[in-house]
Amino acid sequence: MGIRKPVVAANWKMNGNKQLVTDFLKAVADSGASTNIDIVLSPPATLLDFTQTQRDSLCKDVILAAQNMSQLDNGAYTGELSAQLFKDVGCNWVYCGHSERRHKYGESSKLVAKKFIQAKKNGLVPVLCVGETEEERKKGKAFSRLTSQIEAVINLAGKDCFDNAILAYEPVWAIGTGNAASPEIAQEAHKFIRGMVAAMRQECSENIRILYGGSVKPENAKELFSQPDIDGGLIGGASLKPHDFVEICQAAK
Ligand code: PGA
Repeated sequence: MGIRKPVVAANWKMNGNKQLVTDFLKAVADSGASTNIDIVLSPPATLLDFTQTQRDSLCKDVILAAQNMSQLDNGAYTGELSAQLFKDVGCNWVYCGHSERRHKYGESSKLVAKKFIQAKKNGLVPVLCVGETEEERKKGKAFSRLTSQIEAVINLAGKDCFDNAILAYEPVWAIGTGNAASPEIAQEAHKFIRGMVAAMRQECSENIRILYGGSVKPENAKELFSQPDIDGGLIGGASLKPHDFVEICQAAK
């Protein structure tokens, strides 16, 4: 990892409750896990206000993230949540284009790009998630999928778009399956993604943090995070167990 500060981000998806928020923040604070790494917590939106209050008293370093966000400003959009609303409850980051949004809710790469722009316009750090399906990998199309997902953002947001942004490589076949990518496969994809950024802006490619996501656990975190182009992880299932999450954070140091 070296020059880039590691990031370990929790994605609770549609899980968790107030008790887990408190347990999680206490576990992070007690372990000192947030020294020298950025720790991000993304509970469901309903818990963000409570999480902000608890974060401010228990573990100030933890960054709050939204799991998803509207591409639109505040207005008459029943059931939607805007960047402005997330900022009001202390969010600084937002995940854009998580595979569950793309595949279960039909979000296109163009919509993801609009959300990415909306995040930046409102001072939120977008975490752009990209990744291929199992079928695409089997057909040798993994890199063309990554290219199209990243190009969609560059085309709409411009060549500087990855300044002050985060990328996450999350192969769809590894998410929630217990079947993480091997460190070699993950490194190859991360190197490819960094190369795409370098082709636009060399300096940005050296600074941008690229996270790996997909069945990261305490047992495999160290090997994944020790790859030269892997700067931390986006953690789903294991982030619901504070003890496991803290162990994963320690592996990023
Ligand atoms: P997982 O989820 O760690 O449960 O595989 C990762 C993610 O969806 O970000």
